[in-house]
Amino acid sequence: MDTIAIIVPCYNEQEVLEQFHRRTEEVLAGIRDCRFRYVFVNDGSRDGTLPILRRLAEEDYKVSYISFSRNFGKEAAMLAGMDYAECDAAVIMDADLQHPPEMIPEMIGWWRKGYDDVCAKRADRKDEGFIKRHLTNFFYKLLQKCSRTAIQRNVGDFRLLDRRCLSALRLMRESERYTKGLFTWVGFKKKEIPFHVQPRAAGKTTWNYWSLMNLALEGLTSFTTAPLRLASMFGVLVSFAAILYMLYVFIRAMIYGDPVAGYPTLLTVMLCLGGVQLLALGIIGEYLGRVFNESKHRPLYLVDEWNGRKMEYVLKPVPEERRVETHEKEINDEND
Ligand code: UDP
Ligand code: MG
Repeated sequence: MDTIAIIVPCYNEQEVLEQFHRRTEEVLAGIRDCRFRYVFVNDGSRDGTLPILRRLAEEDYKVSYISFSRNFGKEAAMLAGMDYAECDAAVIMDADLQHPPEMIPEMIGWWRKGYDDVCAKRADRKDEGFIKRHLTNFFYKLLQKCSRTAIQRNVGDFRLLDRRCLSALRLMRESERYTKGLFTWVGFKKKEIPFHVQPRAAGKTTWNYWSLMNLALEGLTSFTTAPLRLASMFGVLVSFAAILYMLYVFIRAMIYGDPVAGYPTLLTVMLCLGGVQLLALGIIGEYLGRVFNESKHRPLYLVDEWNGRKMEYVLKPVPEERRVETHEKEINDEND
């Protein structure tokens, strides 16, 4: 029998957790040919989330949980869930019931038909405001144009992943994570099924415009170097124009002499170029910052508690495939 893990990142979700568990249980009870396991990831919540998880784990043998030493963000929480889940496939869901558990049977159905990555695609974005909807649209278009991996549109983290996708995702330990892009990057056979995002059952969203903008920047800079190229192309263009203008000024001065004038033009050109330079520097800085963060090779999350045990080590013993990898490396090293 296949084991399916339900991975749920939770950050301050005390109001919804029990409701989430109850409703998901109702759905899972109808699926007879799979074994289910929950992997809740407490992402450093400051409310009663952890005690609730402890209780759920006591009451329901299917529930396991990981608790971070602080808030590491949803991306890290999802990765931790994938690291700790031992399963044939995993469903990633939000705790706030915006992702209806009623979709799980359909997802499993497609998985059984041979799809490795069954993702729920938002049928509409009516739940969002006008501005947010259009900004998101613009962002997707931009990303699509700039990046070589075609990022799926209107597809979130709500999906079922085959164990092969999971092991591929586990291998990617970059600290600037844009998981949505990573899902696309790993490839495999994908199936999109439409769904309607539900309103949050309780509690409130942790995303605001600022964090969404940051996520968008993250997505752009971690999936394409197009802005850098744009900066250089703009540089070439401006230099070319400058040479033409120089020739013009030079020739004009030769023919008509050089009455000192043109202060406004000079100022405009200077300001404009200054702006462009700062922009280009900023773009370089974005990427440099990413390289800097990446080069530290810090673990992506630290675990404080795992199923009621205080962790002796802050990370789980390395997942299977990485163990194989290090083992091979050791053998190679010995042979060298
Ligand atoms: N979440 C998390 N860590 C964070 C922020 C959010 O694990 O730092 C979880 C949160 O508990 C929820 C999911 O990520 O299960 C989606 O968060 P939220 O509902 O706030 O985002 P939205 O649905 O508005 O995009
Ligand atoms: Mg939500």
